[in-house]
Amino acid sequence: MMNDKELIEKCYTYARLALPLMSEHGIPVTPRNYAVWYEYVSGNEEVLKTLNAMIEKGEKFPEERNEVLYKRFCSEKDENELRKFREEIQQVMVTMLAEVAALSGETEKYGSSVSNSMEHLSEDASVEEIKKVMNKIIVESKSIGTYGKTLQAKLNESAEELKALQGELDHSKAEAAVDFLTGLANRKAFNETLVICSGQATSDHQDLCLLLFDIDHFKRFNDTYGHITGDDVLKFVGRKIKEKVKGTDFLARYGGEEFAVILPQTPLAGAKIVAENVRAFFAQTKLKAVGTSKPLGTLTVSIGVACYRPGEPLEDFIHRSDQALYFAKNSGRNRVATEIDLSNQEITTPTV
Ligand code: GH3
Ligand code: MG
Ligand code: MG
Repeated sequence: MMNDKELIEKCYTYARLALPLMSEHGIPVTPRNYAVWYEYVSGNEEVLKTLNAMIEKGEKFPEERNEVLYKRFCSEKDENELRKFREEIQQVMVTMLAEVAALSGETEKYGSSVSNSMEHLSEDASVEEIKKVMNKIIVESKSIGTYGKTLQAKLNESAEELKALQGELDHSKAEAAVDFLTGLANRKAFNETLVICSGQATSDHQDLCLLLFDIDHFKRFNDTYGHITGDDVLKFVGRKIKEKVKGTDFLARYGGEEFAVILPQTPLAGAKIVAENVRAFFAQTKLKAVGTSKPLGTLTVSIGVACYRPGEPLEDFIHRSDQALYFAKNSGRNRVATEIDLSNQEITTPTV
Protein backbone atom coordinates (compact mmCIF):
# COMPACT_ATOMS: atom_id res chain seq x y z
CA MET A 1 0.00 0.00 0.00
CA MET A 2 1.20 3.47 -0.86
CA ASN A 3 1.13 5.97 1.98
CA ASP A 4 -0.22 9.50 1.56
CA LYS A 5 3.18 11.03 1.06
CA GLU A 6 4.11 8.54 -1.64
CA LEU A 7 0.78 9.03 -3.33
CA ILE A 8 1.25 12.81 -3.40
CA GLU A 9 4.79 12.33 -4.72
CA LYS A 10 3.43 10.12 -7.47
CA CYS A 11 0.79 12.67 -8.40
CA TYR A 12 3.39 15.39 -8.54
CA THR A 13 5.66 13.38 -10.75
CA TYR A 14 2.90 12.73 -13.22
CA ALA A 15 1.67 16.32 -13.07
CA ARG A 16 5.17 17.61 -13.80
CA LEU A 17 5.28 15.41 -16.87
CA ALA A 18 1.71 15.86 -18.04
CA LEU A 19 1.14 19.60 -17.63
CA PRO A 20 4.03 20.78 -19.84
CA LEU A 21 2.95 18.27 -22.50
CA MET A 22 -0.62 19.53 -22.39
CA SER A 23 0.64 23.08 -22.55
CA GLU A 24 2.83 22.22 -25.55
CA HIS A 25 -0.17 20.85 -27.43
CA GLY A 26 -2.45 23.68 -26.36
CA ILE A 27 -4.73 21.43 -24.36
CA PRO A 28 -6.78 23.14 -21.66
CA VAL A 29 -6.03 21.78 -18.19
CA THR A 30 -9.46 20.46 -17.30
CA PRO A 31 -9.84 17.42 -15.05
CA ARG A 32 -11.05 15.38 -18.02
CA ASN A 33 -8.15 16.30 -20.26
CA TYR A 34 -5.79 15.83 -17.38
CA ALA A 35 -7.15 12.34 -16.80
CA VAL A 36 -6.18 11.39 -20.36
CA TRP A 37 -2.64 12.76 -20.13
CA TYR A 38 -2.21 11.25 -16.72
CA GLU A 39 -2.78 7.89 -18.35
CA TYR A 40 -0.27 8.86 -21.01
CA VAL A 41 2.56 9.79 -18.69
CA SER A 42 1.83 6.89 -16.38
CA GLY A 43 2.52 4.59 -19.32
CA ASN A 44 -0.91 3.25 -20.29
CA GLU A 45 0.08 1.43 -23.45
CA GLU A 46 -3.06 2.03 -25.44
CA VAL A 47 -3.07 5.75 -24.61
CA LEU A 48 0.63 6.02 -25.43
CA LYS A 49 0.16 4.35 -28.77
CA THR A 50 -2.82 6.48 -29.74
CA LEU A 51 -1.47 9.84 -28.61
CA ASN A 52 2.00 9.19 -30.00
CA ALA A 53 0.52 8.34 -33.37
CA MET A 54 -1.52 11.56 -33.28
CA ILE A 55 1.48 13.65 -32.25
CA GLU A 56 3.63 12.03 -34.91
CA LYS A 57 1.09 12.92 -37.58
CA GLY A 58 1.03 16.48 -36.29
CA GLU A 59 -2.63 16.18 -35.36
CA LYS A 60 -4.21 18.92 -33.24
CA PHE A 61 -6.17 18.43 -30.05
CA PRO A 62 -9.34 20.47 -30.41
CA GLU A 63 -11.99 20.31 -27.72
CA GLU A 64 -14.07 17.68 -29.46
CA ARG A 65 -11.13 15.34 -29.90
CA ASN A 66 -10.13 15.77 -26.27
CA GLU A 67 -13.63 14.76 -25.24
CA VAL A 68 -13.44 11.69 -27.45
CA LEU A 69 -10.09 10.71 -25.96
CA TYR A 70 -11.43 11.13 -22.46
CA LYS A 71 -14.46 9.02 -23.28
CA ARG A 72 -12.39 6.34 -24.84
CA PHE A 73 -9.73 6.01 -22.20
CA CYS A 74 -11.18 7.29 -18.97
CA SER A 75 -14.96 7.20 -18.94
CA GLU A 76 -15.28 3.48 -18.44
CA LYS A 77 -13.45 3.53 -15.17
CA ASP A 78 -15.12 2.21 -12.09
CA GLU A 79 -17.15 4.95 -10.32
CA ASN A 80 -15.08 4.92 -7.14
CA GLU A 81 -11.85 4.91 -9.04
CA LEU A 82 -13.04 7.91 -11.03
CA ARG A 83 -14.06 9.84 -7.96
CA LYS A 84 -10.72 9.20 -6.29
CA PHE A 85 -9.01 10.18 -9.47
CA ARG A 86 -10.97 13.42 -9.77
CA GLU A 87 -10.05 14.39 -6.24
CA GLU A 88 -6.46 13.64 -7.00
CA ILE A 89 -6.57 15.79 -10.12
CA GLN A 90 -8.14 18.67 -8.26
CA GLN A 91 -5.50 18.49 -5.62
CA VAL A 92 -2.76 18.33 -8.17
CA MET A 93 -4.18 21.14 -10.26
CA VAL A 94 -4.44 23.42 -7.30
CA THR A 95 -1.03 22.59 -5.94
CA MET A 96 0.55 22.78 -9.35
CA LEU A 97 -0.75 26.30 -9.74
CA ALA A 98 1.09 27.19 -6.60
CA GLU A 99 4.25 25.54 -7.86
CA VAL A 100 3.86 27.23 -11.17
CA ALA A 101 3.69 30.57 -9.48
CA ALA A 102 7.04 29.81 -7.96
CA LEU A 103 8.65 29.09 -11.30
CA SER A 104 9.66 32.44 -12.60
CA GLY A 105 9.06 32.92 -16.30
CA GLU A 106 6.76 29.92 -16.56
CA THR A 107 3.78 31.55 -14.93
CA GLU A 108 2.49 33.21 -18.10
CA LYS A 109 2.51 29.98 -20.04
CA TYR A 110 0.54 27.99 -17.53
CA GLY A 111 -1.62 30.97 -16.81
CA SER A 112 -2.87 30.95 -20.36
CA SER A 113 -3.65 27.26 -20.51
CA VAL A 114 -5.52 27.53 -17.27
CA SER A 115 -7.47 30.47 -18.70
CA ASN A 116 -8.39 28.28 -21.63
CA SER A 117 -9.57 25.64 -19.22
CA MET A 118 -11.80 28.21 -17.68
CA GLU A 119 -13.36 28.99 -21.00
CA HIS A 120 -13.87 25.31 -21.61
CA LEU A 121 -15.49 24.76 -18.26
CA SER A 122 -17.67 27.82 -18.48
CA GLU A 123 -19.73 26.27 -21.27
CA ASP A 124 -21.40 24.33 -18.52
CA ALA A 125 -23.38 26.85 -16.46
CA SER A 126 -23.04 24.75 -13.35
CA VAL A 127 -19.29 25.25 -13.25
CA GLU A 128 -19.55 29.02 -13.28
CA GLU A 129 -18.51 29.01 -9.66
CA ILE A 130 -15.59 26.70 -10.21
CA LYS A 131 -14.42 29.22 -12.73
CA LYS A 132 -14.57 31.97 -10.13
CA VAL A 133 -12.60 29.95 -7.65
CA MET A 134 -9.99 28.96 -10.20
CA ASN A 135 -9.68 32.51 -11.43
CA LYS A 136 -9.04 33.58 -7.89
CA ILE A 137 -6.25 31.04 -7.67
CA ILE A 138 -4.71 32.19 -10.93
CA VAL A 139 -4.77 35.83 -9.91
CA GLU A 140 -3.15 34.91 -6.65
CA SER A 141 -0.57 32.69 -8.28
CA LYS A 142 0.35 35.46 -10.65
CA SER A 143 0.50 38.31 -8.19
CA ILE A 144 2.40 36.44 -5.52
CA GLY A 145 5.60 35.28 -7.12
CA THR A 146 6.69 33.04 -4.30
CA TYR A 147 5.34 29.90 -2.78
CA GLY A 148 4.60 31.51 0.57
CA LYS A 149 2.70 30.25 3.53
CA THR A 150 -0.23 32.59 3.12
CA LEU A 151 -0.70 31.47 -0.45
CA GLN A 152 -0.52 27.85 0.62
CA ALA A 153 -3.24 28.47 3.18
CA LYS A 154 -5.38 30.22 0.61
CA LEU A 155 -4.86 27.42 -1.85
CA ASN A 156 -5.89 24.84 0.70
CA GLU A 157 -9.02 26.84 1.30
CA SER A 158 -9.68 27.03 -2.42
CA ALA A 159 -9.08 23.32 -2.76
CA GLU A 160 -11.82 22.74 -0.21
CA GLU A 161 -14.16 25.02 -2.11
CA LEU A 162 -13.29 23.25 -5.33
CA LYS A 163 -14.05 19.89 -3.81
CA ALA A 164 -17.48 21.04 -2.71
CA LEU A 165 -18.17 22.55 -6.12
CA GLN A 166 -17.01 19.39 -7.85
CA GLY A 167 -19.66 17.55 -5.86
CA GLU A 168 -22.27 19.89 -7.30
CA LEU A 169 -20.83 19.42 -10.73
CA ASP A 170 -21.08 15.63 -10.44
CA HIS A 171 -24.64 16.05 -9.35
CA SER A 172 -25.50 18.27 -12.30
CA LYS A 173 -23.85 15.78 -14.67
CA ALA A 174 -26.03 13.04 -13.24
CA GLU A 175 -29.03 15.28 -13.83
CA ALA A 176 -28.11 15.96 -17.45
CA ALA A 177 -30.48 14.74 -20.14
CA VAL A 178 -28.14 14.86 -23.12
CA ASP A 179 -25.66 12.29 -24.33
CA PHE A 180 -22.53 14.28 -24.86
CA LEU A 181 -21.11 12.30 -27.78
CA THR A 182 -24.13 12.41 -30.07
CA GLY A 183 -26.01 15.35 -28.57
CA LEU A 184 -29.11 13.15 -28.48
CA ALA A 185 -31.29 12.51 -25.45
CA ASN A 186 -29.64 10.06 -23.08
CA ARG A 187 -31.02 6.99 -21.30
CA LYS A 188 -32.31 9.07 -18.42
CA ALA A 189 -34.28 11.39 -20.72
CA PHE A 190 -35.52 8.31 -22.56
CA ASN A 191 -36.91 6.80 -19.37
CA GLU A 192 -38.65 10.02 -18.42
CA THR A 193 -40.15 10.46 -21.87
CA LEU A 194 -41.37 6.88 -21.97
CA VAL A 195 -43.25 7.43 -18.71
CA ILE A 196 -44.98 10.47 -20.20
CA CYS A 197 -45.72 8.87 -23.58
CA SER A 198 -47.09 5.65 -22.07
CA GLY A 199 -49.34 7.68 -19.77
CA GLN A 200 -50.65 9.63 -22.75
CA ALA A 201 -51.12 6.51 -24.86
CA THR A 202 -53.17 4.94 -22.07
CA SER A 203 -55.38 7.96 -21.43
CA ASP A 204 -55.88 8.77 -25.14
CA HIS A 205 -56.31 5.13 -26.21
CA GLN A 206 -53.52 5.54 -28.73
CA ASP A 207 -50.91 3.09 -29.95
CA LEU A 208 -47.35 3.55 -28.79
CA CYS A 209 -44.34 1.69 -30.18
CA LEU A 210 -40.72 1.36 -29.26
CA LEU A 211 -37.76 0.62 -31.54
CA LEU A 212 -34.48 -0.61 -30.10
CA PHE A 213 -31.48 -0.41 -32.42
CA ASP A 214 -28.18 -2.14 -31.98
CA ILE A 215 -25.33 -1.73 -34.45
CA ASP A 216 -24.13 -5.10 -35.74
CA HIS A 217 -20.58 -6.19 -34.96
CA PHE A 218 -19.59 -2.74 -33.82
CA LYS A 219 -16.78 -4.09 -31.71
CA ARG A 220 -15.19 -5.45 -34.85
CA PHE A 221 -15.57 -2.04 -36.50
CA ASN A 222 -13.81 -0.32 -33.57
CA ASP A 223 -11.08 -2.92 -33.64
CA THR A 224 -10.54 -2.33 -37.34
CA TYR A 225 -10.79 1.45 -37.59
CA GLY A 226 -10.29 2.68 -34.01
CA HIS A 227 -12.63 4.15 -31.42
CA ILE A 228 -12.34 7.69 -32.68
CA THR A 229 -13.71 6.65 -36.06
CA GLY A 230 -16.21 4.48 -34.17
CA ASP A 231 -17.39 7.55 -32.29
CA ASP A 232 -17.80 9.46 -35.55
CA VAL A 233 -19.94 6.60 -36.82
CA LEU A 234 -22.11 6.68 -33.70
CA LYS A 235 -22.75 10.37 -34.32
CA PHE A 236 -23.56 9.65 -37.96
CA VAL A 237 -25.94 6.82 -37.08
CA GLY A 238 -27.71 9.05 -34.53
CA ARG A 239 -28.09 11.85 -37.09
CA LYS A 240 -29.44 9.53 -39.76
CA ILE A 241 -31.98 7.82 -37.52
CA LYS A 242 -33.16 11.28 -36.46
CA GLU A 243 -33.59 12.25 -40.11
CA LYS A 244 -35.68 9.18 -40.80
CA VAL A 245 -38.20 9.48 -38.00
CA LYS A 246 -40.94 12.07 -37.51
CA GLY A 247 -40.56 15.16 -35.34
CA THR A 248 -43.05 13.75 -32.84
CA ASP A 249 -40.93 10.60 -32.42
CA PHE A 250 -38.38 10.61 -29.65
CA LEU A 251 -34.84 9.38 -30.33
CA ALA A 252 -32.31 8.63 -27.60
CA ARG A 253 -28.91 7.03 -27.31
CA TYR A 254 -29.87 4.04 -25.25
CA GLY A 255 -26.40 2.65 -24.60
CA GLY A 256 -22.95 2.42 -26.21
CA GLU A 257 -23.96 1.45 -29.75
CA GLU A 258 -27.67 1.25 -29.05
CA PHE A 259 -30.38 3.73 -29.91
CA ALA A 260 -34.08 3.84 -29.04
CA VAL A 261 -37.01 5.57 -30.69
CA ILE A 262 -40.37 6.11 -29.01
CA LEU A 263 -43.16 6.36 -31.59
CA PRO A 264 -46.35 7.89 -30.20
CA GLN A 265 -49.63 7.29 -32.05
CA THR A 266 -48.05 4.55 -34.12
CA PRO A 267 -49.30 0.97 -34.46
CA LEU A 268 -46.90 -1.98 -34.68
CA ALA A 269 -47.21 -2.26 -38.47
CA GLY A 270 -46.28 1.42 -38.90
CA ALA A 271 -43.36 1.14 -36.51
CA LYS A 272 -42.10 -1.87 -38.42
CA ILE A 273 -42.10 0.15 -41.65
CA VAL A 274 -40.12 2.96 -40.02
CA ALA A 275 -37.62 0.43 -38.66
CA GLU A 276 -37.30 -1.33 -41.99
CA ASN A 277 -36.67 2.00 -43.72
CA VAL A 278 -33.81 2.83 -41.33
CA ARG A 279 -32.37 -0.69 -41.57
CA ALA A 280 -32.38 -0.58 -45.37
CA PHE A 281 -30.71 2.83 -45.38
CA PHE A 282 -27.70 1.65 -43.37
CA ALA A 283 -27.42 -1.62 -45.28
CA GLN A 284 -26.91 0.32 -48.51
CA THR A 285 -24.81 3.17 -47.17
CA LYS A 286 -21.06 3.05 -47.75
CA LEU A 287 -19.32 4.81 -44.90
CA LYS A 288 -16.38 7.13 -45.40
CA ALA A 289 -13.99 8.50 -42.81
CA VAL A 290 -14.52 12.13 -41.77
CA GLY A 291 -11.82 14.28 -43.37
CA THR A 292 -9.88 11.65 -45.29
CA SER A 293 -12.90 10.04 -47.02
CA LYS A 294 -11.23 6.68 -46.58
CA PRO A 295 -13.83 3.94 -47.27
CA LEU A 296 -14.99 2.18 -44.12
CA GLY A 297 -17.33 -0.38 -45.62
CA THR A 298 -20.91 -0.78 -44.47
CA LEU A 299 -22.43 -1.15 -41.04
CA THR A 300 -25.79 -2.79 -40.51
CA VAL A 301 -28.24 -2.47 -37.66
CA SER A 302 -30.64 -4.89 -36.01
CA ILE A 303 -33.91 -3.53 -34.68
CA GLY A 304 -36.47 -4.83 -32.20
CA VAL A 305 -40.03 -3.45 -32.25
CA ALA A 306 -42.73 -3.70 -29.59
CA CYS A 307 -46.12 -2.12 -29.00
CA TYR A 308 -47.21 -0.87 -25.59
CA ARG A 309 -49.99 -2.72 -23.78
CA PRO A 310 -51.85 -0.09 -21.77
CA GLY A 311 -51.14 -0.34 -18.07
CA GLU A 312 -48.26 -2.79 -18.32
CA PRO A 313 -45.03 -2.02 -16.43
CA LEU A 314 -42.58 -0.14 -18.67
CA GLU A 315 -39.90 -2.73 -17.94
CA ASP A 316 -42.11 -5.32 -19.66
CA PHE A 317 -42.53 -3.07 -22.67
CA ILE A 318 -38.80 -2.43 -22.96
CA HIS A 319 -38.06 -6.09 -22.34
CA ARG A 320 -40.29 -7.09 -25.26
CA SER A 321 -38.46 -4.71 -27.64
CA ASP A 322 -35.20 -6.09 -26.33
CA GLN A 323 -36.36 -9.66 -26.90
CA ALA A 324 -37.35 -8.75 -30.45
CA LEU A 325 -33.92 -7.19 -30.96
CA TYR A 326 -32.31 -10.35 -29.64
CA PHE A 327 -34.43 -12.32 -32.06
CA ALA A 328 -33.28 -10.09 -34.95
CA LYS A 329 -29.65 -10.67 -33.95
CA ASN A 330 -30.13 -14.40 -33.69
CA SER A 331 -31.85 -14.58 -37.06
CA GLY A 332 -28.75 -13.25 -38.75
CA ARG A 333 -28.57 -9.48 -37.94
CA ASN A 334 -29.30 -6.65 -40.40
CA ARG A 335 -32.99 -7.23 -39.81
CA VAL A 336 -36.10 -6.00 -38.06
CA ALA A 337 -38.04 -8.26 -35.69
CA THR A 338 -41.22 -7.44 -33.83
CA GLU A 339 -42.99 -8.87 -30.81
CA ILE A 340 -45.12 -10.90 -33.23
CA ASP A 341 -42.01 -12.82 -34.27
CA LEU A 342 -41.57 -13.63 -30.58
CA SER A 343 -45.04 -15.09 -30.18
CA ASN A 344 -44.65 -17.08 -33.38
CA GLN A 345 -41.41 -18.36 -32.02
CA GLU A 346 -43.15 -19.47 -28.82
CA ILE A 347 -45.78 -21.34 -30.78
CA THR A 348 -43.26 -23.14 -32.94
CA THR A 349 -40.93 -23.98 -30.07
CA PRO A 350 -41.51 -27.67 -29.28
CA THR A 351 -42.36 -28.30 -25.65
CA VAL A 352 -40.53 -30.95 -23.71
P1 GH3 B 1 -23.52 -7.46 -32.03
O1 GH3 B 1 -23.75 -7.56 -33.49
O2 GH3 B 1 -23.79 -8.76 -31.33
O3 GH3 B 1 -24.26 -6.34 -31.42
O4 GH3 B 1 -21.96 -7.21 -31.87
P2 GH3 B 1 -21.24 -5.94 -31.27
O5 GH3 B 1 -19.80 -6.07 -31.47
O6 GH3 B 1 -21.89 -4.70 -31.81
O7 GH3 B 1 -21.69 -6.03 -29.76
P3 GH3 B 1 -20.88 -6.04 -28.41
O8 GH3 B 1 -21.93 -5.81 -27.36
O9 GH3 B 1 -20.02 -7.26 -28.30
O10 GH3 B 1 -19.93 -4.80 -28.49
C1 GH3 B 1 -20.41 -3.51 -28.54
C2 GH3 B 1 -19.26 -2.64 -28.87
O11 GH3 B 1 -19.64 -1.29 -29.04
C3 GH3 B 1 -18.19 -2.63 -27.82
C4 GH3 B 1 -17.59 -1.27 -27.88
O12 GH3 B 1 -16.33 -1.36 -28.50
C5 GH3 B 1 -18.52 -0.49 -28.80
N1 GH3 B 1 -18.92 0.77 -28.18
C6 GH3 B 1 -19.80 0.95 -27.18
N2 GH3 B 1 -19.86 2.27 -26.86
C7 GH3 B 1 -19.03 2.93 -27.68
C8 GH3 B 1 -18.64 4.29 -27.84
O13 GH3 B 1 -19.10 5.20 -27.15
N3 GH3 B 1 -17.72 4.58 -28.81
C9 GH3 B 1 -17.19 3.59 -29.59
N4 GH3 B 1 -16.32 3.95 -30.53
N5 GH3 B 1 -17.52 2.31 -29.45
C10 GH3 B 1 -18.42 1.97 -28.53
MG1 MG C 1 -25.06 -3.76 -27.91
MG1 MG D 1 -23.89 -4.30 -31.34
